[in-house]
Amino acid sequence: MGTQESAPLDVARLREDFPILSRTVGDDTPLVYLDNAATSQTPNRVIDIFGDYYRGYNANVHRGIHYLSQEASIAYEQAHDRVAEFVGADGREEMIFTKNTTESINLVAYAWGLNELSEGDNVVLTEMEHHASLVTWQQIAKRTGAEVRYIRITEDGKLDMEHARELIDDDTQMVSAVHISNVLGTVNPISDLAQLAHDHDAYIFADGAQAVPNRRVDVKDLGVDFYAFSAHKMCGPTGVGGLYGKKAILEDMEPFLYGGEMIRKVTYEESTWNDLPWKYEAGTPLIAEGIAFAEACDYLDDIGMDNIQAHEHQLAEYALSRFAEFDDVTTYGPGLGEDRSGLVAFTLDSVHAHDLSSIVNDYGVAIRAGDHCTQPLHDRLGISASARASFYLYNTREEIDALVDAVDAARELFADI
Ligand code: PMP
Repeated sequence: MGTQESAPLDVARLREDFPILSRTVGDDTPLVYLDNAATSQTPNRVIDIFGDYYRGYNANVHRGIHYLSQEASIAYEQAHDRVAEFVGADGREEMIFTKNTTESINLVAYAWGLNELSEGDNVVLTEMEHHASLVTWQQIAKRTGAEVRYIRITEDGKLDMEHARELIDDDTQMVSAVHISNVLGTVNPISDLAQLAHDHDAYIFADGAQAVPNRRVDVKDLGVDFYAFSAHKMCGPTGVGGLYGKKAILEDMEPFLYGGEMIRKVTYEESTWNDLPWKYEAGTPLIAEGIAFAEACDYLDDIGMDNIQAHEHQLAEYALSRFAEFDDVTTYGPGLGEDRSGLVAFTLDSVHAHDLSSIVNDYGVAIRAGDHCTQPLHDRLGISASARASFYLYNTREEIDALVDAVDAARELFADI
């Protein structure tokens, strides 16, 4: 929900930072980009990092003592500190750069889960997990004999915390929960889950892919052991993500990938591991992407995360109230006036979500249709697919009106069939 201290965004000004937003699509139709939960757009100053890096100081990190390698290494290392600071972690030792949220979850599932889980243990997930977490833990559980349990969701799309208290027990080794659902927009009570997990000596992992871009996140306040997010959903580039892990746990854990960069001493018989976080970053890392990731954090902080959250909340409220005008539109997740993120999944009675997104595309409106990598959640909601509009700092009410008009057009088109 919007905070009292937030200030309105100068959206017209901000849009100038994103050249892509002024392009047209199809038949010279202005672009209305409402697919931000899948990938956000990239501001000039983040794009410029790539030109600066490749024109100015492109070199491999940590391997050379020449000028370029030193400059690249310093920038890459400082980028870890910056991204760590952005989510409240204690510096670079607690911030591993991965490819994305999916790889961050896999890293822990493989490095910790495969070694630590066994028959009799359980991993507790939620019914609203993204496949990135659900499929990963499901497969690691199959290989280790551990059980996977799912915390139910309530009719209004929230976590049933009573059920969580029943499921999490002394055999629970890991609770892995999405911080904000990419379909329902629900903001899960991660601190409460962390408390419950820790009461039973289990770890807690939160998937912050939809949270870090949209609100201030502090991993220490949340009390999590691991936290994952992706740069490309927060004005950063594709190809890089973050994994926060508590230092003591990361020190204990086995590496995920082996090879160069992640070692300290190697003989024909044995190897020892590099300091954190490099122990988990085998091979040549995502250097330019990592530096651009830090720039995206600067960009968002300059705007103010509280201001971004308040702006998105207003847009989500506006979209919910516009959709409420129609009897044949169903929206999912918490309703008007509740804490939720800036995305709205919906269905239209007479038109399948795929047809709907294809027709609104003819009007220049980019939304997503399908199961949004949450097939079991869609089964649970009794639908095969939904359409999803997701907003970011540069979106406007007028763009939501354009979406609603395009949905109207789809309804009319199908009424004639
Ligand atoms: N978790 C959630 C909640 C997401 O919304 C997404 C992106 N759709 C992911 C995980 C996966 O992110 P990525 O594709 O960047 O790994």
